[in-house]
Amino acid sequence: MTERKAQLAANLARVEERIAAACEAAGRERKDVTLIVVTKTYPASDVRFLAELGVRDVAENRDQEAKPKAADCSDLDLQWHFVGQLQTNKVRSVMGYADVVHSVDRLRLVEALSSAAVRRGREIGCLVQVALDAPSGSLGGRGGAAPADVLAVADAVAQAPGLRIDGLMTVAPLAGEYAGNPRAAFDRLMEISTSVRESHPAATMVSAGMSSDLEEAVSAGATHVRVGTAVLGVRPRLG
Ligand SMILES: *Cc1c(COP(=O)(O)O)cnc(C)c1O
Repeated sequence: MTERKAQLAANLARVEERIAAACEAAGRERKDVTLIVVTKTYPASDVRFLAELGVRDVAENRDQEAKPKAADCSDLDLQWHFVGQLQTNKVRSVMGYADVVHSVDRLRLVEALSSAAVRRGREIGCLVQVALDAPSGSLGGRGGAAPADVLAVADAVAQAPGLRIDGLMTVAPLAGEYAGNPRAAFDRLMEISTSVRESHPAATMVSAGMSSDLEEAVSAGATHVRVGTAVLGVRPRLG
């Protein structure tokens, strides 16, 4: 094993222990939480090592970086998740490799994703990104629909050809009433998820929790955690 692969293996084992312990503490089964490794800023060679180490889900947040990386890794059996803010002019490109888009937050983006999916003859999974601190009618600073607007976006996804409404995603807010309290943020996300599932029972994915707060997300009920730093190391700058 190369030094880098051994380091990734050790980091993955530590993250796996954290997820398993959090599941146990919450009385949840380990198989009900999926680890998505966020590989942004790291090379395709790392993605390849991760696949060899058993990772099946990877995430990226910028199309310019993700597109060539996914192409380099197209021989691997991986699900690609797109988790970054998405401009409508990047949608056609993202449709070339992404299996699930976690950052669906406005009707115009739903329309663009739908027409790109139809043009490619594929179905893509969508999560509505929730900005817990955004006022109704506006987007969060890092993207995301305001809680009051989530159902309308989910309804639009459900009606759009080529799209599937799979659930919700959030990033714990750094400011406002949820600052420093990721558990409260994830509990609120779960409440919104419960109400969305009244109209969309198949929208069961809850994507929440990163390197610093995956335990809080698992105990709140997240089905997917998105972990970058704890597996790959500290990124040189915010990706
Ligand atoms: C980078 C990123 C992550 C991973 O964050 P870490 O703190 O490195 O684990 C998760 N979700 C999104 C949307 C990201 O952009």
